[in-house]
Amino acid sequence: MLKKVLIANRGEIALRVQRACKKLGIASVMVYSEADKSSLYVRHADEAYCLGPAPSARSYLDQAALLDAAALAGADAIHPGYGFLSENPGFADKVAQAGLVFIGPSASVMRTMGDKVSAKQAMIDAGVPCVPGSPEALGDDDEKTKALAASIGYPVIIKAAGGGGGRGMRVVNDEASLLQSIAMTKAEANAAFGNAAVYMEKYLLAPRHIEIQVLADTHGNAVWLGERDCSMQRRHQKIIEESPAPGVDSVRLAEIGERCARACERMGYGGAGTFEFLLENGEFYFIEMNTRVQVEHPVTEWVTGIDIVEMQIRIAAGEHLPWIQADIVRLGHAIECRINAEDPHSFKPSPGLLREWIAPGGPGVRVDSHMYSGYEIPPFYDSLVGKIVVHGRDRAEAVGRMRCALGDLIATGIQTNVPLHQELMLDAEFLKGGTSIHYLEQWLSER
Ligand code: ADP
Repeated sequence: MLKKVLIANRGEIALRVQRACKKLGIASVMVYSEADKSSLYVRHADEAYCLGPAPSARSYLDQAALLDAAALAGADAIHPGYGFLSENPGFADKVAQAGLVFIGPSASVMRTMGDKVSAKQAMIDAGVPCVPGSPEALGDDDEKTKALAASIGYPVIIKAAGGGGGRGMRVVNDEASLLQSIAMTKAEANAAFGNAAVYMEKYLLAPRHIEIQVLADTHGNAVWLGERDCSMQRRHQKIIEESPAPGVDSVRLAEIGERCARACERMGYGGAGTFEFLLENGEFYFIEMNTRVQVEHPVTEWVTGIDIVEMQIRIAAGEHLPWIQADIVRLGHAIECRINAEDPHSFKPSPGLLREWIAPGGPGVRVDSHMYSGYEIPPFYDSLVGKIVVHGRDRAEAVGRMRCALGDLIATGIQTNVPLHQELMLDAEFLKGGTSIHYLEQWLSER
């Protein structure tokens, strides 16, 4: 087993990974920026190192500072959490060169899956269905590009091969704007991701976002842990996730899940991962893979009873998966609401002094949050202050528990999106289940 893990992250996920280490009896090393020195997990820590000033580039993204802290602490592994360096194969390489274990898949698999064009190709090779589109990055032959778009059929979406976080995408409705849109997306992609390569996909009009969680060990075994419905999004940012996904054909889902697990075995994937799909008219279309733990992992943990972060650590330590697919049983229904420090109407971030924080509790309620009364929420990072996760025997019971939990949360001094979640938990379409990825934006524009 690993002995000491450096947690190269902040916020609720730093606390989540710290808890997993404690549970396993592994020492953890926390790192923090000057803006995060009063974080809960730093107070809980046996050992913590300041990386540098608040800006991420000089703290959580500073690879040399992280490796220095790991060396100083005598850590034998680094857990990257999500965001920051979690999907950076160059960092994974450096961690390995320093003689440490990177808790995640190999750098070469991260490289393949981090480029959306090569990821799609790998999925096509593994028999996983993808959104119809260009088989490779778009070239310079304008006539060929126009012919391709015509054959896919408008609207199409131009996407950056190196894109992420919902950026580097542009929808094109007709041929007149095609070439200009491609040129603009390329320029943006080059500036934002240092990679001008773009590709083309059919733009699906009202899909749902359904993703499959997988766990794979380094000995060629993989299982899938069911799906999550993450269709409730604003600006491509998820705000509510649930498992199971309401009304999805379980036979088709199992076929897709099996293909994802086999794809992991085929690529030599080791660790936790998520295959993201759009679902439209009963068909699944792969869009991308996340090679890290996701914000919404707790909903899967609750319905499966599996501690995904613990499994990431065990897999990185070389353990075999303790189950085969038939052992994965799912029970009940789980829903997560992401609680953001923001104005619930304008969505403007609302950092600052959190005067009071009293988290909800009771049966079927889990709160993953690094908040406490008197904490100063720094303005430098994302606005996620925590996640309320609930579980029930069925969806209706889970919704009831979420309503109760949202009402019980006391957070004063800042604004949060709790009122938005409260409205959604009463919304007829949400209660029916199965809304598309555009539902929330439409709902917001109409209210
Ligand atoms: P990112 O890595 O930036 O998150 P994704 O490829 O996962 O990019 O796409 C993010 C979101 O953009 C999806 O959840 C979906 O809402 C939308 N999207 C992406 N591709 C398509 C498509 N082909 N048709 C319709 N919507 C799409």
